[in-house]
Amino acid sequence: MSDRTILVWFRNDLRIHDNEILLEAFRKADKILPVYCFDPYYFQTNASGNPKTGSIRARFLLESVADLRKNLCAIGGELIVRVGNPAEVLPKLAEEFQVNEVYHHREVAHEETEISEQVETALWKIRLNLKHFIGHTLYHKEDLPFPIKDIPDSFAIFKKKIERDSTVRPCLGTPERVVTPVINQPGNLPTLQELGLDEPLHDPRSDEEFLGGETAALSRLEKFFAINDRSEHSKGHRSLTAPYSSGLSAWIALGCISMRHVYHEVAKHQQSTHNNQYNAMLLDLLWRDYFRFMFKKHGQKFITAKNSGEQHEPASNQDTLFESWKNGKTGVPMVDAIMHELNATGYIGNQSRQITAGFLVNELKVDWTKGAAYFEERLIDYSPASNWGNWAFIAGVNDARESRYHVATKPAVELETKSEFIDTWLPLLKDLDYHEDFDHFVVK
Ligand SMILES: Cc1cc2nc3c(=O)[nH]c(=O)nc-3n(C[C@H](O)[C@H](O)[C@H](O)COP(=O)(O)OP(=O)(O)OC[C@H]3O[C@@H](n4cnc5c(N)ncnc54)[C@H](O)[C@@H]3O)c2cc1C
Repeated sequence: MSDRTILVWFRNDLRIHDNEILLEAFRKADKILPVYCFDPYYFQTNASGNPKTGSIRARFLLESVADLRKNLCAIGGELIVRVGNPAEVLPKLAEEFQVNEVYHHREVAHEETEISEQVETALWKIRLNLKHFIGHTLYHKEDLPFPIKDIPDSFAIFKKKIERDSTVRPCLGTPERVVTPVINQPGNLPTLQELGLDEPLHDPRSDEEFLGGETAALSRLEKFFAINDRSEHSKGHRSLTAPYSSGLSAWIALGCISMRHVYHEVAKHQQSTHNNQYNAMLLDLLWRDYFRFMFKKHGQKFITAKNSGEQHEPASNQDTLFESWKNGKTGVPMVDAIMHELNATGYIGNQSRQITAGFLVNELKVDWTKGAAYFEERLIDYSPASNWGNWAFIAGVNDARESRYHVATKPAVELETKSEFIDTWLPLLKDLDYHEDFDHFVVK
């Protein structure tokens, strides 16, 4: 009998630890064919004529895929890398390597599920099954105390019931060895230029180190503990308005680190140190699950249903106001400083996101979807459910609005007040010239 081969299609699960599809393929097959596809869909331009994926996130993705390849090679495997539509690439590879089945993790947002469906249809034509796994959430869908259709729309009730009736499964471990078929052409990773993007410029004011990949993610988590175990007041990550957060979101978004791994490690450190910051972090992880489950339950309705009577009359000069917002030229120091930080580094803290999103929606009265699409392009940690879900909350547009959480939006006048961030950043801004072409600052 010939060997059984399973193609493992990596998407936003770029790790070898606690990765159910990899372990299950390891158990069920003689050989595993790990594949990553750079889908041109994500590198096209959006409605505003800007790249759907900005260069900072694209670089992070390239680093993450390179690290996955390195980690697979270290356990005897390889990673096939291709640029192309997965619905064309995967069936071709499946035929070439006589694959018996294809595994992948199911996503929840519209674009991602549509791509899965296209792949499923294409594979079906060659009589192959695309097996879906659920691996992006902290709580497994099967362990929820309610079916998806009955998930409470209120975050408070969701949290209460989940914490009372569900537990987070233990991590699955890491395969010690992977056997792949003979792969003569694993394929090179594309360059940023080949993806149609420029190399991002290093911003001299950024103290962030965002190096993509599982290896960097795991060491980032350890650093976070090393700092936070010592003091409740020490900083895990420096950003304008998120001094105590982990800064792990970019790695979590690409699945370079498992949510369960983060959860169990944080819970362990919480127990041994009683540092309350760790409880806040566990709550944040639950917010991420909540948005994903809301998308699973409501689909696109979660971000499209309108609450009549609560929508702002849109400003007539939307385009001008939006341009001033995204370029940090609104004249409101806090908002402008945050937008400059976003443009320069790809990362801003949660409060900063709330402030700038709230400002766009409530003060400038600009269509919130423009802001969400801009964050999609710019954020290094862009994750569809978290980004569009959070924006929809702030805009007051969804079916789950009773669970609206504390949003740090403030009237413009309050954003004029002095803050640690403005003190630190604004004097620097005076010494720098904004370079439109690069969306970066250059020293005068
Ligand atoms: C308008 C807006 C857009 C956003 N877009 C994204 C996005 O595209 N991707 C993204 O990961 N987060 C998004 N968030 C949520 C949140 O701002 C970031 O997850 C957080 O700032 C990341 O920093 P951290 O890793 O230090 O978070 P920590 O405070 O250390 O939290 C740990 C993890 O929990 C998750 N998390 C924390 N807060 C939230 C939240 N409110 N909603 C969902 N998940 C959360 C993240 O995965 C994060 O890494 C958005 C928030 C707003 C208000």
